[in-house]
Amino acid sequence: MLDQITDSIYFIVSRSFDSNISYIKSGDHEILIDTGTGLYASSLDKDLQSQGSSLERITDVVLTHCHIDHIGGVIPLLERGSPKLYLHKAEAVPINSGDMSQTLGATFGADLPPIKIDVLLDEGSLIDFGEIKLRVFHTPGHSEGSIVMQVEGSGILFTGDTLFPGGSFGRVDFPTGSPEKLVASLKRISEMDFEIGLPGHMNAMMYNARKSALTSYQMAKNWFGIR
Ligand SMILES: [Zn+2]
Ligand SMILES: [Zn+2]
Repeated sequence: MLDQITDSIYFIVSRSFDSNISYIKSGDHEILIDTGTGLYASSLDKDLQSQGSSLERITDVVLTHCHIDHIGGVIPLLERGSPKLYLHKAEAVPINSGDMSQTLGATFGADLPPIKIDVLLDEGSLIDFGEIKLRVFHTPGHSEGSIVMQVEGSGILFTGDTLFPGGSFGRVDFPTGSPEKLVASLKRISEMDFEIGLPGHMNAMMYNARKSALTSYQMAKNWFGIR
């Protein structure tokens, strides 16, 4: 089920263990933010076809981090087309050297083949798709290479597995996770200017997402006992 957020941004709430997936149309660019596990690629293809797109038409894939429930769908996309892949450098460097361990594929019994990340993202990177531009904020904690991204000139923030709705937030017990960094990242997000939050799991935060971020920050701070 694909929900329209703006003229050009669509949001697909996940199927089972998949991450949520966003689809953005900007001029000649057809972009996905995260890709799910890849187990439901044919459902994703149908959702895309409902908007005149398809797996093979995707030109760019921006990953909020490298866990298998977000990155696994890259494999069917690469079989059908040739999208450019974007990921924060902290996770892209090991992946490009053939180390897939941070994807947690082995942990979940789904070994991924080696892949190559084309664009290494960093704090402040601007991904320019023409009409739509995404500003990257490095927000480690759930994983070392986790990012959130704001659609430039809009109140829309893609929050990955850092910020979830209802005072919730990403877990920190996977390799490279850090409660201190997560709390600092949530604090930073709660000080940003945005209205709509599109998370990696659970439902979209369609109103007052910044207030939701403040709640998540306070909950995380108490949960982890960080002053
Ligand atoms: Zn996830
Ligand atoms: Zn994750």
